[in-house]
Amino acid sequence: VFVCFEGGEGAGKSTQAAALEAWLTSEGYAVRHTFEPGDTEVGRRVRQIVLDPATGSLADRTEALLYAADKAEHVETVVLPALARGEVVVTDRYVDSTLAYQGAGRTLDVAEVERVARWATGDLRPHLTVLLDLEPSAGLERFEGRDRIEQESLGFHQRVRASFLALAAADPQHYLVLDARCPVEELTAAVRARVEPLLGQ
Ligand code: C5P
Repeated sequence: VFVCFEGGEGAGKSTQAAALEAWLTSEGYAVRHTFEPGDTEVGRRVRQIVLDPATGSLADRTEALLYAADKAEHVETVVLPALARGEVVVTDRYVDSTLAYQGAGRTLDVAEVERVARWATGDLRPHLTVLLDLEPSAGLERFEGRDRIEQESLGFHQRVRASFLALAAADPQHYLVLDARCPVEELTAAVRARVEPLLGQ
C-alpha cells in the first residue's frame, strides 16, 4: 500500500505522516516512511541544489528535471523495493508536488511536467493521497522563508494550492482532502479511517 501526503508549506504533512507511521507500526505493519525531495543519496544532493537560496538562479526546466531525477531515484531505490517487501510506504510529497510547484507554481506547462514526472516514476501512483489544505499565508507564517521556495510570492503559493485542490477534485476516489487547521488528532483519525480499508491490499 502506497500512501502520499501532499500540501503547502506548514500544513502539517510531516506530523500526520509520522502519526500514520506510528499507528501502522502499532498495528503490526512494516512501514517505510519516506519523503521527497532528498531520501536517497542523489536526492540529498538534488535537495541541496533546489532548496539552498545560495544556488541563485535556476531555470524552471532545470528545476523540474532535478525534481524528476530525485523522483526516479526515490521510486526505483526506495519505494518499489519497500512495496515489493510488502511494506506500507508513506511518503511526504510525490508527483502532485511537482505538478503543483514546478508546473502551476513556475507556470510551466503542467501536462509536459506531468509527462516527465510519470516517466521518472514509471507511472507508479499512490493508492491514496492525503491533501492537507491550508491557505498559503497561514502556512508561510510558520517559516519566514527558510528555503528558495518559501521565499516565492504569495501568488506562487496560491497557484500551488489551487493546483493541489484541482488534482484532488479530479480524482476523489484516490484523495482525502482535509482542512489543515483542524486539530491534529482529528486529522489523524480521518487519515486512519481512510487508510484502514486499504490495508491488506
Ligand atoms: O516538504 P518539505 O517542506 O520538506 O519540502 C521542501 C521544500 O521543497 C518546500 O519549500 C517545497 O515547497 C519544495 N518543493 C518544491 N517542489 C517539489 C517538492 C518540494 O518546490 N516538487
